[in-house]
Amino acid sequence: MQTSFTPEQLEDPHVAESEKILRRCVHCGFCTATCPTYVTLGNELDSPRGRIYLIKDMLENGRDADEEVVTHIDRCLSCLSCVSTCPSGVDYMHLVDHARVHIENTYRRPLIDRLIRSLLAAVLPYPSRFRTALTLARFGRPFAPLLKQVKALKPLAAMLDLAPQSAPVRQETVMHGAQPIRGIRRGRVAILSGCAQSVLDPGINSATIRLLARFGIEVILPEGEGCCGALVHHMGREEEALDFARRNVDVWTREIDNKGLDAIIITASGCGTTIKDYGHMLRLDPAYAEKAARVSALASDITEYLSTLDLPRQEQRRLNVTYHSACSMQHGQKITMAPKLLLKNAGFTVRDPAEGHLCCGSAGTYNILQPDISAELKARKVRNIEATKPDVIATGNIGCMTQIGSGTAIPIVHTVELLDWAYGGEKPGKLSALKEKATV
Ligand code: SF4
Ligand code: SF4
Repeated sequence: MQTSFTPEQLEDPHVAESEKILRRCVHCGFCTATCPTYVTLGNELDSPRGRIYLIKDMLENGRDADEEVVTHIDRCLSCLSCVSTCPSGVDYMHLVDHARVHIENTYRRPLIDRLIRSLLAAVLPYPSRFRTALTLARFGRPFAPLLKQVKALKPLAAMLDLAPQSAPVRQETVMHGAQPIRGIRRGRVAILSGCAQSVLDPGINSATIRLLARFGIEVILPEGEGCCGALVHHMGREEEALDFARRNVDVWTREIDNKGLDAIIITASGCGTTIKDYGHMLRLDPAYAEKAARVSALASDITEYLSTLDLPRQEQRRLNVTYHSACSMQHGQKITMAPKLLLKNAGFTVRDPAEGHLCCGSAGTYNILQPDISAELKARKVRNIEATKPDVIATGNIGCMTQIGSGTAIPIVHTVELLDWAYGGEKPGKLSALKEKATV
């Protein structure tokens, strides 16, 4: 694609990067077929190619974001399906990141939209605030149908609908510091406690720690780490995102320089994609660029790391597991086979749903901010998963677990919970009602 930025515009490193990305696009449109919003809405401006044109036009003309641009960029899930499809290697992720920051800096959203976004940014990344909000949501749930009647208030209704029916229990098993291991120590890793997942389902990290300990991996939960920054990053609140990133880089750098780390383990693939991008996000910060790149290089999804441990093959179970690959797993981190191979090796029968490349509509805060499109994508995803007749659904991202779990009665667990069970752990609580068929 030809561009016509001026030399002065290109002095801005963000514009210079976007210009390079734009020039790679050859308008072929292959990406449209795999874009969930184009597939759902059928509008070229809701396809990657359409959004690329809108961003180019806005940046090249040095214009503030307008309502049209905001509408179509807001509808983008940042699922990165287009990146997997594009034959020209267009780095849409960093282009849309730049566009979101430009929108945040130049566009004044309607009051309610601003308030809802500020509320999400002030609550979701902080576990204690989020836990309180979930408790309050139980009292607000009866008002959700009323809120749905007013377009601007639909995000509030979506928030209430997504909140779990009962308040999540605090788990005391996950504490700061080093966790005990069994046998000879084979490695030392830090695990991200993060934010929303630690409140919604602390059992995921507990299962991870137990499983790793059984294979001799010492797990550290360093004091001071927190949200990876993805939630605010995808809302274009760049300074807040960079502050979260710097805080985590400081914490993990201390551990790396102290006793060393073999990996930084992440059990939510949405966070993994962002932490693997810290090196890029902080590349212009001389105090952090190098440290952030080191952290990104050590970041590893739990299934990536487990694949290096050569886990023993387990006896076959008669349990059908449909594996839902989160977009941040398959498109963001290009991890496609490892989770399924681990599950198969652990004795589960693994099935793939049709249209596995399409997003479930979760996408960070998307299911709150774009509830209608999100609901359509959820229904489509649930239909495809249920068609495979699974006993259980497995995935590697808490956002997908919440989204898909709110649309089906089939139990949904994190991949690592099944692996922990297969390698000597307790049956996941969510599967307590599930009768396993006789082993073959
Ligand atoms: S990130 Fe996903 S929703 Fe956004 S343009 Fe690409 S494929 Fe479409
Ligand atoms: S597939 Fe790639 S090159 Fe083709 S239109 Fe989409 S982004 Fe551009």
